[in-house]
Amino acid sequence: MTPDHRELLPISAARAANGALTLGGCSLAELAERYGTPLYIYDAATLDRAAASYQAALANAYPAAWEVAYAAKAWLNTATARWAASHGLGLDVVSAGELAIALHGGFPAERIHFHGNNKQPAELAAALAAGVGRIVVDHAGELAVLNELALARGARQPIWLRVNPDVDADTHGHTRTGHAASKFGLGLADGTAEAVARQALAMPGVALLGLHCHVGSQLRAAAPLALAAQRLLELAAQLHAATGWRLAELSPGGGWAVPYEPQQALGLPAIDDYVSQVAAAVVAGCQRHDLALPRLVLEPGRSLVARAGVALYSVGAVKQAGDVIYAFIDGGLADNPRPALYDARYSALLANRLSDEPPQRVHVAGPYCETGDVLIHAIDLPPLRMSDLLAVPASGAYQLSMASNYNAALRPAVVWVEHGQARLIQRRETAADLLRRDE
Ligand code: PLP
Repeated sequence: MTPDHRELLPISAARAANGALTLGGCSLAELAERYGTPLYIYDAATLDRAAASYQAALANAYPAAWEVAYAAKAWLNTATARWAASHGLGLDVVSAGELAIALHGGFPAERIHFHGNNKQPAELAAALAAGVGRIVVDHAGELAVLNELALARGARQPIWLRVNPDVDADTHGHTRTGHAASKFGLGLADGTAEAVARQALAMPGVALLGLHCHVGSQLRAAAPLALAAQRLLELAAQLHAATGWRLAELSPGGGWAVPYEPQQALGLPAIDDYVSQVAAAVVAGCQRHDLALPRLVLEPGRSLVARAGVALYSVGAVKQAGDVIYAFIDGGLADNPRPALYDARYSALLANRLSDEPPQRVHVAGPYCETGDVLIHAIDLPPLRMSDLLAVPASGAYQLSMASNYNAALRPAVVWVEHGQARLIQRRETAADLLRRDE
């Protein structure tokens, strides 16, 4: 392992005597042999440490109740739902599908928050039937439907309102979610959020407990989140003055960044720095507006799971094309569309052996029929041979959850490693899986 990959790889990463990279005490070469490639490996120790870091940071920085909720869109399957449940996390889901996986993993419904800018009535009904803890209402139409559905069940559903705080974030355009023109949330500046809150307060089928926003992802500074939290507290203060309503819960979302390349680790504040800045902004805002401290809910996705995951690929041909060298691997666009979607950059390292040969600049490309199927542009790697293994760190978030069957690709197997043991938590797809829905 080169020292500069340490910040990107799971905390259990090491090199075996034969040079093979190990995670959780398991040799990646042996895992590739046993489960095939592409293979996704999740390191339990790294997941546990990330959850504990958030929980300790909130316990230290926030003098009232709090919750860390895992944003399941980063990646959810039965095993991750069980993991999140057993670590006392809440869970943010955005579809009936994520809800079904969470419930299948035994995740307690009362700790689930159901988000989404266009939830279907059937999804709201499924959330009510499951007893989901909070439904995060995104627009007035949804509020009316939810009220009716809840009344029909004789229930009063606890809700939050998703507010658009009109805060810009310095991140990729596709992951900015809190600016005025975003599709998410109720406008603050134009009074929509306040009007919908007043409607909610008059509805017997819902109980308005809190306000929520999310300003974007891959944020490297806490300031936009702190500003958004302040704006939500201003709204809470206005509502309190006008109606007597008290804010019980506040969620300024998730969005904390992780490094994907070694140099991105430089200058990235640690989780506890970021959490303490957000917590301080909430405490200061509450003092300013004379509000009681609400239960503070943070919703990290990427920063809980990205570092725990490593994608492992086998190298095929190495090919010169014009003045470029391609190193072909057996995955790419289908299991990780992020480079094509967001120009996301990754790093990689040789996982089956060490090499002291001078590096070569290559493009790491997959087998799919798209010129854009290049996982890593211009990376310096030791000269690669057919059947070498390439490990891509920081692969735990928004890869498997965005993976597709493009070119009828079979989605990869996923293993969980801990204390020298590997456990298959999701088998590789088969051609039979691809045919299962066809009539
Ligand atoms: N909460 C909400 C409402 C989101 O939309 C997202 C991501 O899009 C998250 C939390 C998690 O963001 P991240 O994975 O960047 O922490």
